[in-house]
Amino acid sequence: MIHARPGVTRADAARLIGVGTGATTELVGRLGHAELLAETPAAPSGSRGRPTTALIPHPRGPLIAATSITHEQWRVDVVELGGAALATVREDLGDRTGDEVVAAVGAAVSRLRTEYGDRIRGIGIAVPGTVSRDLMLDASNLNWRNVDLAAIWPKAGIFVAGNDATLAASAESHRGAAVGASVALHLRVEAGLGGAVVDGGRVLVGALGAAGEFGHMPFGDPTVECPCGAYGCWGTAVDGSALARLLGHHQPRDPISYARRIIASTDPAPAAATATAATALGRGIAGLVNGLDPDLVTLGGLGTDLLAAAPAHIDQAYRAGLMGFRRENPPPILPSTLGDDGPLAGAAEEAWTALLTTLV
Ligand SMILES: [Zn+2]
Repeated sequence: MIHARPGVTRADAARLIGVGTGATTELVGRLGHAELLAETPAAPSGSRGRPTTALIPHPRGPLIAATSITHEQWRVDVVELGGAALATVREDLGDRTGDEVVAAVGAAVSRLRTEYGDRIRGIGIAVPGTVSRDLMLDASNLNWRNVDLAAIWPKAGIFVAGNDATLAASAESHRGAAVGASVALHLRVEAGLGGAVVDGGRVLVGALGAAGEFGHMPFGDPTVECPCGAYGCWGTAVDGSALARLLGHHQPRDPISYARRIIASTDPAPAAATATAATALGRGIAGLVNGLDPDLVTLGGLGTDLLAAAPAHIDQAYRAGLMGFRRENPPPILPSTLGDDGPLAGAAEEAWTALLTTLV
């Protein structure tokens, strides 16, 4: 309850769990003794009755190291119960190889474990690629193959790693724009495009754990080769590489920052390229909505930028591609509320889910 509803009052927690005053006192006492929660005076609610307290994470309670690796930087947050970050370390990738980035992240996690001691119980990692069951990372857009993520914390009690877009989808359904949706489709444009279907709060991960690679559906230009090896991938029609191709620029080394600059520009050529990418995004979303029947679609990463810059182009292509019966009341396309923090928030959430089962 404290994790799902940070700052919940003791009175509300008791009501939501359905326990009486005596049982609540005993429960709060035991969880406090176990150094899982503490109490602090709650802001007056304005209603009658005795003042209550807010239940907060214990100052010596367990923590998670939540990590994200993007195409441009890595970051480690120390996250407490409820999802708040106590510390953040980050650095640009620069020219590092995958193994060098893993070593840099591992050194940062090791320093944080020295600083916070045994409180850091596990790690969750979001990566821009696919992760095998034995924690090997392939990130085709970074040209990384077989990068051993386990080296970040070799003997971690809890070690969860997953695709950034999949984890962002999970976070969006737990704490973002898709809370309460029965079937949510989350799409994230970075270098390429990924995402996930969340069915009743559960992310569909697929038989190999590699579902959600929507950016590699052939909705794009069939003459364009994707870094994955296929031709015509949708991701190559909506990301920074698409904008660079449309504008006759070299492929950018910083594809996300580059794309943000182009999408933010109001000059005619960048605006036209942005409109073309937005149209390709809207068309593909229509295809996925026809096939998956979600009740809403959330857009993260550069998808949020495209939605803000060219909403009419996305909407027009989306509606044109929808089956007729869906057009009257199409599932809304919403910006992600967690934004660039989505993958990291999802990594923290997955690690906390694993940790919570060991605490109770
Ligand atoms: Zn591809």
